[in-house]
Amino acid sequence: MKYAIIGSGVAGIAAIEAIRSIDKAGEISLVGDDPYGFYSRPGLAYYLTGELHDKALFPRTAEDLRKLNFRFINKRVTKILRLEHTLEMTDQSVILYDRLLIAVGAQALPLEVPGANLEGVLKLDHMADAQSILKQARRGRTAVVVGGGITALELAEGLRARGMKVHYLLRGDRYWSNVLDEQESRIVERRLQEEGVTLHYHAEVIEVVGRNGKANGVRLLNGQMLKCDLVAYAIGIRPRLDLAKQSGLAVDRGMLVNEYLQTNDPDICAAGDVAQAYDPMSGRSILDSLWTPARQQGYTAGLNMAGQKTAYIKSPPFNVTRLAGLTTTIIGTVGRGHDDDLVGIARGDSETWRQLPDCMVAQTGFDVHRLRLLVGEKTLLGAIVMGDQKLSLPLEKIISGKMDISSIREKLLMPNSKIGDIVAEFWENRN
Ligand SMILES: Cc1cc2nc3c(=O)[nH]c(=O)nc-3n(C[C@H](O)[C@H](O)[C@H](O)COP(=O)(O)OP(=O)(O)OC[C@H]3O[C@@H](n4cnc5c(N)ncnc54)[C@H](O)[C@@H]3O)c2cc1C
Repeated sequence: MKYAIIGSGVAGIAAIEAIRSIDKAGEISLVGDDPYGFYSRPGLAYYLTGELHDKALFPRTAEDLRKLNFRFINKRVTKILRLEHTLEMTDQSVILYDRLLIAVGAQALPLEVPGANLEGVLKLDHMADAQSILKQARRGRTAVVVGGGITALELAEGLRARGMKVHYLLRGDRYWSNVLDEQESRIVERRLQEEGVTLHYHAEVIEVVGRNGKANGVRLLNGQMLKCDLVAYAIGIRPRLDLAKQSGLAVDRGMLVNEYLQTNDPDICAAGDVAQAYDPMSGRSILDSLWTPARQQGYTAGLNMAGQKTAYIKSPPFNVTRLAGLTTTIIGTVGRGHDDDLVGIARGDSETWRQLPDCMVAQTGFDVHRLRLLVGEKTLLGAIVMGDQKLSLPLEKIISGKMDISSIREKLLMPNSKIGDIVAEFWENRN
């Protein structure tokens, strides 16, 4: 059996691990255009701040990868010829496959304003992007950060940690308004300001201005000019669908797959950020941009490519991240609506988080430690845990296990109730 995998991210590597758990002899080719191969993309944020060395970004050692016995081809696939079961690369070389996995991820949406192609206008998708941000970031100089969600914040904090003066521009009146509630946004904004980041509300960039091909300022919709040496943006991402479209595979916002991660061609699977997988919570096919689902999808696709019939059961999205230095866990469905600073989904984000059905909200804590629960009829639908993380794992189990919380529902919804204590007691006394 000949397996080909396009994309050396976590979905691609997990697929190889799964194939090798079943088929020791099959030939596996991994084609990836990133010269750094497999590394932690969420870790890039900590690389920017200087908390992680680049060596710490590689989750697998060279020896781990060698044991998986695959061929890494550092090229870009330009065409899939489905009838011939062949991939074509930029240099016109070809690879034959019996089973193919497309795990090409998603790319940053471009900043579409005049001047966006000037030197010094930067995004954060790959290791090479992080390196060029670090190359251009210099103590005492000024950066403008545009966008929303986790990556924009990470850019602001990373540049600040490198000693730059940072202006963070928000189009609306608060940070990440379709996932966080107002108090949560304010906690994050206050901490950013304490770190020395200058926030600008209702600020929309209409042009990046420059000199000699280099960015040296931005013009805002209200006429204001901000001088800067670097513009970093993270306004959302889009699954890379060019190969799927070129080869006539079914797409919507991402590549459409069934519960076995197969596309409409049974010999071709898709997994990770590029795939739009079925979500039993909402009954819809949705996009995630999260490391764990990408890993789980890649692994399940690999098992199926090697001959098993294993369904991918999506659990409620779970992300432990750091927002302005504050550890924050987001589980299940927590928000809804529209965010002025993002076009669609962002990195480290899930569409599920914004599909809130009718439910009640219980919340506690008004400063650094904060807990918000989304209380459904009989189950918890989602939770945000900021600061103290004692309850994040129990809550993940309660939400993903759809545990019946009828016995504590009323108590949770009483004004000023200590919802943290109620959940902790419920968890300790579970059968
Ligand atoms: C800065 C940043 C912060 C993040 N923060 C979080 C977080 O807090 N929590 C979280 O859970 N997730 C986070 N994520 C998202 C997470 O990293 C992704 O969900 C995950 O990496 C997706 O894995 P993947 O394998 O689907 O795709 P990717 O990791 O994107 O890998 C796809 C690979 O395919 C390659 N490729 C594309 N087209 C071709 C082609 N035609 N030929 C050959 N190769 C090709 C790409 O270059 C890439 O190397 C973050 C991501 C970034 C960048």
